[in-house]
Amino acid sequence: MRFVIVAILSLAWACSSDDPQESDPDPTLPPTPPGSKYQPLDLTALDNGQGVMMQAFYWDVEPRHQWWNTIKPKIGEWADAGVDRIWLPVATKGQSGGYSMGYDPSDYFDFGEYDQHGTIPTRMGTREELEAVIAQAHAKEVEVIADIVLNHNSGGGLQYNPYRHKQTYTLFNEDHGNASGKFNRDFEHFHPNAIHERDPEAMFFEEQDLCHDHPHVQNWLWKSEESVAKYYKNVMGFDGWRFDYVKGFEPWVIREWMKSVGGYAVGELWEGNGAVLAQWVEETGIAAFDFAAFYKMEEAFDRHNDLRYLDRDMLRKTHPQLAVTFVANHDTEKDEHPDNRISKANKMKSYAYILTHDGYPTIFYLDYEDQDFSEELRQLMLIHGSLATGEVEVLYVDQDEYVMRRSGGPGNPGLILYMNIGNNIKRRSVQSLWNDQPVMDYAGQTSYTSTSDVSGKVMLEAPAKGYAIYSVME
Ligand code: ZN
Ligand code: ZN
Repeated sequence: MRFVIVAILSLAWACSSDDPQESDPDPTLPPTPPGSKYQPLDLTALDNGQGVMMQAFYWDVEPRHQWWNTIKPKIGEWADAGVDRIWLPVATKGQSGGYSMGYDPSDYFDFGEYDQHGTIPTRMGTREELEAVIAQAHAKEVEVIADIVLNHNSGGGLQYNPYRHKQTYTLFNEDHGNASGKFNRDFEHFHPNAIHERDPEAMFFEEQDLCHDHPHVQNWLWKSEESVAKYYKNVMGFDGWRFDYVKGFEPWVIREWMKSVGGYAVGELWEGNGAVLAQWVEETGIAAFDFAAFYKMEEAFDRHNDLRYLDRDMLRKTHPQLAVTFVANHDTEKDEHPDNRISKANKMKSYAYILTHDGYPTIFYLDYEDQDFSEELRQLMLIHGSLATGEVEVLYVDQDEYVMRRSGGPGNPGLILYMNIGNNIKRRSVQSLWNDQPVMDYAGQTSYTSTSDVSGKVMLEAPAKGYAIYSVME
């Protein structure tokens, strides 16, 4: 697959010798003519070891009960394209049964095997089908990330709750939403209880807000040998965790969970303030989705048409190793407010941003499947796994131009990303780390080529309302 993309790109480059349409400043050198002695680098030979995570679902996946069977045959191709982890939807039964996306967790041990909430399979399918997905991922050396909802529960039976002086849906046992019989719960395990009124600082306070201070809850969630954490890891074979709604409980819960089972982990802290995200990753020691980067891209490309927003605070700038970047997810994609989503017209610029910068990028299933994106997105993933390495330095930014350089490393020339949201082609002379070397756009967005001078200065070109990703030829 990678070879095919490289071959197409080199063909496109070799055949195009047209001068740019614009009457911009003269480039330092004319475009390299076809048949020149220079060839594109073989990016597949420059593997930098960096993968991407596939968010392997969207909101209300269809067809119901067939999701595991839908994604399983795709995993091999994802792996070939650079995916090293897949984030699966919640795998256990929720209150809304066959319609549930899992964020209403009822039975943490019903992976589609007990007849409750109106169905045996979950919305995604049966336990056997899930096990086949996990086995297929492991056969392709892809890690499987479980979506874990620790904050709240749904779907229990009614009981009198002395702390609330009324009936509450806090009874979870074999006859009430917990057919597995593991982690049975009652009102003592939710807030308020004998321990306290609520989580000290957390924001979520519903009648089924789990109390993580209760020893029974701790034992069943992560401490004991038959806990959710250990069962998911040791019996089901999950390799890591995506923690849902971490605003609803304190960071020590994550630290305790990780101490018990380890693995790769990322939290959903829906927060556009980079400093708040930074404090949370320091407190938990795990990664967070970079909502700050998401909102800065939305502001830069969509809302304000001003690339200077890319220069503002993001988690990836302070904690690149703990920042999971993304362009869309199951929530943003169904959000009707335009400020909470990146429009389709600007998605590929956003993917070009996250796949060339540091941070660990996520690819959203529907974007990967979108035929309008497929070739371009796969090429960006190839660039991410090859040229997108080394120090990040922003070389230039103004309202409609943004130039960023990755320094590369031994045997790897790095890249220069040149974005332009203006209506005209732009050229700009920038400082590369390439001395007297011909360069081209590996993203396939422009046929312009150039040569750096002996000091590394190079004239680059970005297409109107687009981007180019330069590196050297050989
Ligand atoms: Zn509590
Ligand atoms: Zn928007």
